[in-house]
Amino acid sequence: PGVLHIVATPIGNLGDLSPRALDTLRNVAAICAEDTRHTRQLLSHFGLDKPLVALHQHNEDAQAAQLIARLQGGDSLALVSDAGTPLVSDPGFRVVRAARAAGIRVSPVPGACAAIAALSVAGLPSDRFVFEGFLPAKASARRERLTRLAAEPRTLIFYESAHRIDEALDDMIAAFGEDRPVVLARELTKLFETVLDGSLREVRERVGADPNQRKGEFVVMLEGAGDDADAQVAEGRRLYAKLVEHLK
Ligand code: SAM
Repeated sequence: PGVLHIVATPIGNLGDLSPRALDTLRNVAAICAEDTRHTRQLLSHFGLDKPLVALHQHNEDAQAAQLIARLQGGDSLALVSDAGTPLVSDPGFRVVRAARAAGIRVSPVPGACAAIAALSVAGLPSDRFVFEGFLPAKASARRERLTRLAAEPRTLIFYESAHRIDEALDDMIAAFGEDRPVVLARELTKLFETVLDGSLREVRERVGADPNQRKGEFVVMLEGAGDDADAQVAEGRRLYAKLVEHLK
């Protein structure tokens, strides 16, 4: 059988497409792409021409069976998304699961990922973090999600688009308090790359005051909850359990 290659593509700067990614795309029988027009442009920039198969959230299940049959027939395929690492807030999970279930080798060609690129320049604790992807579009669901994350001690990472960045920051202030440290990474690897940090209040003010700071693509990162009451109770329980263990 063929191999299903999961290939990361750039999140802005085309120089981030790795030589191995290029090689893989050149050598597969076909490329599964989220938006075939978008991927066609990327390929033509690198002088490649390949059959493309559209794979998006609405046809993924239906396509999976055909793709698996093709892989079993001996064709190797690549899967890409519009930007960054496939499956990270992007389609592909169902096809990968089906391929693995069918005993097909699934092999990564790693590269850009906005969440990891953002975390690497944020200066927030990065040994443990939580990737939350996109918040729900509906205000009530968004607020509820944030409220449930308020006591999370690990660094939080969110994806956000330009048209909702204001509301997202407002809702974060409501859920986490205006003093929670935040880092806003915008347009990474692109011309207007900007990384803002400060308290939620400060960053919200800077974004509110400058329309340019509301343009493009964002990764929002929040420092985890500090030594609040919840954390102290948890620590008390941990010590108590240790003590009980010791006395046994
Ligand atoms: N699969 C991609 C990855 O590996 O990062 C993410 C795809 S998701 C549909 C798109 C979101 O990723 C954007 O709304 C934004 O939150 C984030 N993003 C993508 N490119 C970015 C960039 N250059 N700078 C900042 N955020 C970016």
